[in-house]
Amino acid sequence: MNIILLGAPGSGKGTLSEFLCEKKTFTQLSTGDLFRDNISNKTDLGLRAQEFINKGKLVPDSVTNSMVEMYLNNKKKDLIFDGFPRTDDQALALDDMLKNLKEKIDQVVYLDIDESTLMGRLTGRMICQICKRSYHKINRKPLKEGICDFDNGTLVVRPDDQEDKIKIRLEAYHNQTAPLIKFYKDKIIKVDANCSPVELYNRVEKILGS
Ligand code: ADP
Repeated sequence: MNIILLGAPGSGKGTLSEFLCEKKTFTQLSTGDLFRDNISNKTDLGLRAQEFINKGKLVPDSVTNSMVEMYLNNKKKDLIFDGFPRTDDQALALDDMLKNLKEKIDQVVYLDIDESTLMGRLTGRMICQICKRSYHKINRKPLKEGICDFDNGTLVVRPDDQEDKIKIRLEAYHNQTAPLIKFYKDKIIKVDANCSPVELYNRVEKILGS
């Protein structure tokens, strides 16, 4: 089963993917994480993506689509697409890629969240440099300050989690990604994401079944 998680930055896609991968047999394909890995490894792709990401803008479709295509050469099913697709062009490209692999998207989970909670979530967010788990300085504190509970990795604030960049990301979400709700109208399930990560997981698990 392949699932897309669709939702604004800060709606909980990453944490939900983390839970689904721990408790079920999914693998997370997060384009944001793949870009950040490429940036820390200073690959050509990372260098190209970095200028867009640090401004809060979407990376061009051609770069993003070919990165996903490469990933799908190794892992083709039981995927959670976290942060991809984000544009019409990416959605069409994904359809083609999966068709070639004789796979498909089974469900699209749309995380519906009040805009007013997003800024607080994103400006308080810290990410483990090693496992990419996300924490929050008020709502999801690590046991030891600045250190990941799972692997002792250092927690860092993403450069694009600054208020001015967040505004640009939310704009990109509204203009380019939200229209995908219509694109996937036959497969979409809307979930109220104004809740804790555990509650959100429970809501989604009920929908997906065992
Ligand atoms: P968030 O969902 O909080 O915005 P992500 O880690 O998914 O965080 O994405 C971080 C940044 O990486 C995005 O703002 C964008 O610049 C880039 N990015 C991630 N996924 C895509 C995508 N599918 N298309 C274009 N750019 C992307």
